[in-house]
Amino acid sequence: MSEYSTPTQFIDLAAQQNKIRSELDAAISKVLDHGHYIMGPEVKIFEEDLSNYVGVKHSLSCANGTDALTLVLMAWGVGPGDAVFVPSFTYVASGETPAQLGAVPFFVDVQENTFNMDPDSFKQAIIDCKTLGLNPKVVVPVDLFGQPADIDLIDGIARENNIKVLIDAAQSFGATYKGKKVGSMGDATTTSFFPAKPLGCYGDGGAIFTNSDEDSELINSIRLHGKGSQKYDNVRIGINSRLDTIQAAILIEKLKIFPEEIISRNRLASLYTKSLNKYFITPELIEGTESVWAQYTLRSNKRDSIISDLKSKGLPTAIYYPIPLSQQKGYVHFPCPKTGLPISEKLSKEVFSIPMHPYLSDPDSVIDLLIDSSK
Ligand SMILES: *Cc1c(COP(=O)(O)O)cnc(C)c1O
Repeated sequence: MSEYSTPTQFIDLAAQQNKIRSELDAAISKVLDHGHYIMGPEVKIFEEDLSNYVGVKHSLSCANGTDALTLVLMAWGVGPGDAVFVPSFTYVASGETPAQLGAVPFFVDVQENTFNMDPDSFKQAIIDCKTLGLNPKVVVPVDLFGQPADIDLIDGIARENNIKVLIDAAQSFGATYKGKKVGSMGDATTTSFFPAKPLGCYGDGGAIFTNSDEDSELINSIRLHGKGSQKYDNVRIGINSRLDTIQAAILIEKLKIFPEEIISRNRLASLYTKSLNKYFITPELIEGTESVWAQYTLRSNKRDSIISDLKSKGLPTAIYYPIPLSQQKGYVHFPCPKTGLPISEKLSKEVFSIPMHPYLSDPDSVIDLLIDSSK
């Protein structure tokens, strides 16, 4: 590293901004000029861009990825007495949203090699949920760290049991599963444009993807206070959840460079895996998936000493997630299958994520530091 280079960033938003700063400035200025800050023309354009990119009939933007989940669950009438199956090894929003609607988040274990929902644990959870007198209503496969969950398997089990599939793709927008883009599968998919996600804006943002005309119309009403045919006609209970026009304008520009960023992310991930798999447990992709690598996550039973060594050498790391959601104070009372959640509990003690973004200039020095720390 030369003395002029900046230290390695965990996620480098500044490098990306430098690359397209003049386009961003022009896009933001345009919004300031026309002044339609809420549901302005850029929102519609961005939603069309999203639908074209994903290959889905309807894209609905909203205020954040958490609201995106809530909006779908509300449209499907999820409430008290319903069970919503969520992985235990995930971000809080996946379980928080059903709980907020009075439903029960039913925790499901994950697979050790992919970090994603384990179909066998899901099957057991359906049986145990019925024993508890709950109605199995929705499954939320989360595409953790950017890799799509094995949706064919999850979908098959869900169909047999009349359970709807809501894919939480907050970390996987842009990824593919057996040739299909994330957003085009399940009964609905949600994502987040939080700044640090693979496609992020400069504030909060989110979106919902669906091929159902009926769901799209319902979700559009619910995100706008339950509006009917016009704004001051409230036909159902809704919420206020819109993407700001300025954020849509920023996302239109960022989506243009997103495909090449995904290529860079995958190039870095391949280099990491090839260089590090003798020293750590490296992440595995199931056949036919392409990840967007929201995180590149390693495993080691010496995790804590490794990350403190790396910290002393200036290499940033992060732990996603140090505590499974099922063990968080606010969530310990929710049920899980009688087979337990052993993999989620194990992973939370072993995982750590390393710098991953399309603009990492010196991957070899990151790799050298990691190999040193493993010894
Ligand atoms: C980030 C994230 C969310 C929530 O997105 P926000 O935009 O922060 O509300 C939901 N689920 C998962 C898995 C996430 O990583």
